Amino acid sequence: MKICFATNNAKKIEEVKAALGSDFEIVSLQQIGCHEELPETGDTLEHNAFQKARFVKDHYGVDCFADDTGLEVAALDGAPGVYSGRFAGEPRSDERNISLLLEKMAGKAERTARFRTVIALILDGQEISFEGIAEGEILAQKVGHGGFGYDPIFRPTGFDKTFAELSLAEKNDISHRGKAVNALISFLRHRKF
Ligand code: IMP
Repeated sequence: MKICFATNNAKKIEEVKAALGSDFEIVSLQQIGCHEELPETGDTLEHNAFQKARFVKDHYGVDCFADDTGLEVAALDGAPGVYSGRFAGEPRSDERNISLLLEKMAGKAERTARFRTVIALILDGQEISFEGIAEGEILAQKVGHGGFGYDPIFRPTGFDKTFAELSLAEKNDISHRGKAVNALISFLRHRKF
């Protein structure tokens, strides 16, 4: 089955392909000829995920899914949340986002945080969403060089390593996106054709 994953992030496509296996052919936006920026103007993860998926379906006519992820930090009342990517403004920069978050968290004892991913699927005229959550805490400094985004300062609950120190397979196993993708896969496998 061929489905477009509506993202421009090559690392995410790699993560999702690894999790999906060979039953599904995942095509990128580039492969369907989409080179434009997808709209993302909502104030919830759900809104943005469906906005991106609908844009691809409406303009390119292919079934697709889109994800939106936020890092929700308890001591910051859920910020940066839906604004995680542009937390420190445009142009988006993981380095500046991490610095700003560490600044806001300086001296705070409450370090609880979670990544939340929403995947919006548009398939055969149906619209369905899936959610995945990874609980953890924000460290006081960066540790590790893998992954992307806030990975070097996020340590998942029950682990003594940050996401940036885990292999791709280890991260996929426990990550917000991994869980949301598993929910998507389970839906696709049990669906009647
Ligand atoms: P997006 O909606 O998936 O593009 O995610 C928004 C922002 O959240 C990204 O720009 C990253 O800063 C952050 N983010 C998303 N997924 C991850 C992850 O798996 N690890 C670390 N940061 C992430």
